[in-house]
Amino acid sequence: MTTTQFSSEERNRYKAKAYAAANANSPLASITIPRRDPGEHDVQIEILFCGICHSDLHTVRNEWSAIPTVYPCVPGHEIVGRVTKVGSEVTKFKSGDIAAVGCLVDSDGNCPECQAGFEQYCPNMTLTYNSPDVHLGGVTYGGYSDSIVVKDHFVLRVPSNLDLAGAAPLLCAGITTYSPMRHWGVTKGKKVGVVGLGGLGHMAVKIAHALGTHVVVFTTSLNKKEDALRMGGADEVVISRNTDQMRKHEGSFDFVLDAVSAEHDINSYLRLLCHDGNMTLVGAPDKPHAVAAFSLILKRRSLSGSNIGGIAQTQEMLDFCGKNNITADVEVIPIQKINEAYNRLSKADVKYRFSIDMASLKSQ
Ligand code: NAP
Ligand code: ZN
Repeated sequence: MTTTQFSSEERNRYKAKAYAAANANSPLASITIPRRDPGEHDVQIEILFCGICHSDLHTVRNEWSAIPTVYPCVPGHEIVGRVTKVGSEVTKFKSGDIAAVGCLVDSDGNCPECQAGFEQYCPNMTLTYNSPDVHLGGVTYGGYSDSIVVKDHFVLRVPSNLDLAGAAPLLCAGITTYSPMRHWGVTKGKKVGVVGLGGLGHMAVKIAHALGTHVVVFTTSLNKKEDALRMGGADEVVISRNTDQMRKHEGSFDFVLDAVSAEHDINSYLRLLCHDGNMTLVGAPDKPHAVAAFSLILKRRSLSGSNIGGIAQTQEMLDFCGKNNITADVEVIPIQKINEAYNRLSKADVKYRFSIDMASLKSQ
């Protein structure tokens, strides 16, 4: 019997500590949530660090009309922790191992997408939070918690040389930027633009640099310029509100990654692309973008989107980051500072990812 065949009545549960939002306007606060006892294919993890993604903020505030939020909402999908228990069929992990979980905790395993290793495009995927929970009923609860139970296929290994607080953001920000770069052939010698130096953007810079590209950062924040050059990756920084600086780069990029969380004009970035260049949107503001036909037509440019990454590619990305010593630049916070962190995130004021030290939840 696989874990997904348990009905919500059959499965035993235990209590975990967590932080949740009660509605779209309330601050996050302490809560007790149920977790399932690990089944034969499950891995139980004591969470050590969890990154704060802007998607957590979009979800908590119910900003995505296509994915309404079910409350209480426990966000968090950049999870690193220590294995505390494994089911009888689990061979990949044992108690005491360091393990990680990203945005996905299940998928149907049978569809063409799953068969091809693209679980992130499975029509029946289960997100780490705010997805129907087939085991316990209600919705899944994420990583702002002291413990989680996840099917072994969706649990990843963290290279031992990486700092755990800085490795947590790789599970979303890392894979979301790595995946489209691999798909669109971003390799040595290409010119890559990164729009928005936030959590995703700064990971994109580090990864694009490690892939051997010429990286140009486009930012609205003057004060991030030095950081972009220092953090190991950016070759140039352009203040995107400066139209003269923008014009100089027109028609010269092979690939542009847009990681902006808010409404903005994407045509000025499409015009940066050379012929057959691609711009991929990973930033997910709710309001539709306006695209001028001529931004695309004149140079056969393409515009696409990309959703996180599959499990095999997430492991590939973690190993790549291990080899290249890449982690996020993190501000480590106790969970009690979560609402302050959300306020700063909404103002693009993070250097460059918050990572919650989950030991702080023990004293709650
Ligand atoms: P973040 O840390 O808040 O970074 C977003 C950056 O966007 C900011 O640092 C800022 O960069 C820029 N920005 C913010 N408001 C802006 C505005 N009004 N005009 C222009 N630029 C603005 O967020 P994140 O965690 O990196 O996430 C970024 C986006 O990606 C979010 O929408 C998130 O939901 C989405 N996301 C998508 C996926 C996926 O699978 N596709 C996965 C994870 C996250 P500067 O200060 O440099 O301008
Ligand atoms: Zn995320």
